Amino acid sequence: MLMTAAQYEDSLRRLSLKVYMFGQRVDNVVDDPIIRPSMNAVAKTYELAHMPEYRDIMTATSPISGNTINRFTHIHQNTNDLVKKTKMGRLLGRHTGCCFQRCVGMDSLNALSIVTFDMDRKLGTTYYKRFLDYLAYVQENDLTCDGAMTDPKGDRSLPPHLQADPDMYLHIVDETRDGIIVRGAKAHQTGAVNSHEVIVMPTISMREADRDYAVSFALPSDAEGVTYIMGRQSCDTRKQEGDGINAGMDVGNALFGGHEALIVFDDVFVPWDRVFMCREYAFTGSLVEKFASYHRQSYACKAGVGDVLIGAAQTIAEYNGSDKASHVKDKLIEMNHLNETLYCGSLSCAAEGHAEPCGTYCVNTLLANVSKQNVTRFPYEIARLAQDIAGGLMVTLPSEADFKSPETGPWLEKYFKGNPAASTQNRMRILRLIENLTLGTAAVGYLTESMHGAGSPQAQRIMISRQVDMKDKQHHAKKLCGIDET
Ligand code: SF4
Ligand code: FE
Repeated sequence: MLMTAAQYEDSLRRLSLKVYMFGQRVDNVVDDPIIRPSMNAVAKTYELAHMPEYRDIMTATSPISGNTINRFTHIHQNTNDLVKKTKMGRLLGRHTGCCFQRCVGMDSLNALSIVTFDMDRKLGTTYYKRFLDYLAYVQENDLTCDGAMTDPKGDRSLPPHLQADPDMYLHIVDETRDGIIVRGAKAHQTGAVNSHEVIVMPTISMREADRDYAVSFALPSDAEGVTYIMGRQSCDTRKQEGDGINAGMDVGNALFGGHEALIVFDDVFVPWDRVFMCREYAFTGSLVEKFASYHRQSYACKAGVGDVLIGAAQTIAEYNGSDKASHVKDKLIEMNHLNETLYCGSLSCAAEGHAEPCGTYCVNTLLANVSKQNVTRFPYEIARLAQDIAGGLMVTLPSEADFKSPETGPWLEKYFKGNPAASTQNRMRILRLIENLTLGTAAVGYLTESMHGAGSPQAQRIMISRQVDMKDKQHHAKKLCGIDET
């Protein structure tokens, strides 16, 4: 069943999540003005799936049930599916101008399909069947899953079992006939409180001494013992100023946003049928690597958000009357060049994908890492150029209330007029959008998350060094200039 956006919202209302923000329990998560824009962004993944023009990109046919499902719950069956995943990310980035959060669950499901199968083949376990049953449940109910990988990690120089506090990585603390008890936390959890399910995976490759930390499972997001503590974002309280597109002009993007939260698992029970890895430490590295590769591909979302920022930069250039200046035109070309290069990276790792033994298609690891490495840099340059074109008014602009005040409004109208063809209010709106994308709440997703999400830059450099066939490159170089070392 494909849920509509309204059904998705209703389904969240039925959850009883334990959420804290600004030191207080949030009773009504869905309608909280700071959280709601992030719910709206996830709701777009449901809404677009019902629109005929996007159906091909947003939906797929489940190989389990044969039913039409949302692509965010799909297991990629060929490289075409992977390419459509890239297109879906860009599409949604463009429609929301922020992080729409649902990709982490999709990437977790695909990574788990591969690793549970591989574990069974090598160890004789029965995880794959268990995983497929869970997958069928997620697909049938069109659920949003939070993919929870990143542990707090404590002292980075020590492995999990040597940490002064054993809970710095999530671990199994007890085991019963019915399941396992886990304790720990997952940090930076994108879309956590907009999710029906949370899928936990280990964050690093583990050795035998860390076997209790080698654990993967899924839980309903409102399971007993699970608590969410919302992260703050730059300018977040501006979202409390208005309601919807016609108010809260200072927000920049009043309808959409993202969020991250710390999830605490305080001795939480997980029944066996939802456990997908239990101490098989030798497979932790592979699960991390598969998830990371998929998620590095997912950053096609940044090209979609980049489209919005480039559109905003062109618009403010026109409103300022500077759009005909050759250096402004050239900066916009550079922004497009960088943005399309991001798209190329995500597309290429998809097109060069391959079938894993279970049949799931996985992206090309080298190209996914090269792509994500670009993502750690190019959005910053695109943002720098957008700020260059926008001008300083983007950060010195008085508030919406000053524009509306009878005392100061007329002066602001008079002195902040640019190109006479554009209204001062529209000039203010587009400047606030650029501020939102490069310094405000959306900059969390567009900039810092581009840096650290799906692994910080060094993680990709390590993978690039591992994946590149240097011997082959040397062979060709030596052959061409007549070196024979045999
Ligand atoms: Fe998806 Fe992009 Fe948000 Fe990650 S940052 S969850 S890839 S939209
Ligand atoms: Fe991410």
